[in-house]
Amino acid sequence: TPTVGVLALQGDVREHLEALAEHGARPVTVRRPRELAEVDGLVVPGGESSTMDKLVRAFDLQGPLRERIADGLPVYGSCAGMILLADRLVDRAPGQETLGGMDVLVRRNAFGRQVDSFESDLHVRELGGEPLRAVFIRAPWIEEAGPDVQVLARVESGPAEGRVVAARQGRLLATSFHPEVTGDHRVHAYFVDLVRRG
Ligand code: GLN
Repeated sequence: TPTVGVLALQGDVREHLEALAEHGARPVTVRRPRELAEVDGLVVPGGESSTMDKLVRAFDLQGPLRERIADGLPVYGSCAGMILLADRLVDRAPGQETLGGMDVLVRRNAFGRQVDSFESDLHVRELGGEPLRAVFIRAPWIEEAGPDVQVLARVESGPAEGRVVAARQGRLLATSFHPEVTGDHRVHAYFVDLVRRG
């Protein structure tokens, strides 16, 4: 049974722990370097990416997280978590840093301030045929992706049609949306599988 951590400094931690447990992982919270050292995979949840970045640094986790990412730790970032995994940001907060690892340019609050949150169905081939209900909350999108990045999903209609909202690069997975708030946890299943395959 793989041990999968959820970075528990800020954001919606509990829902991720539950979704991971449902899919055969042993979920643990991560707030300290010694807790990070024990996980086989890590979820970086949604929340506020600039706050999470400050806490990551305050808890002396930035260096250890960057090291484990460089060593190939599977990490799944949702929403603010996607922002933390991005090598480059548009509209970052003053002084905001990321962990990086994914060769992407991510735009924060990309859907506009007037569009606080919305839901949309996505067809993600890697998750089987059924459409996935995606919940976006002040969400980012991936504006540019390097050659090693595999696009998993794009917005399918409306003004943001075609925008990349899920992607993978090696063992790093990112979604703009929050799969932990729906009952459909195929993203978590996909991630736990990625962790199992090491
Ligand atoms: N807008 C938030 C940020 O910039 C992300 C929102 C979320 O994680 N739901 O971090």
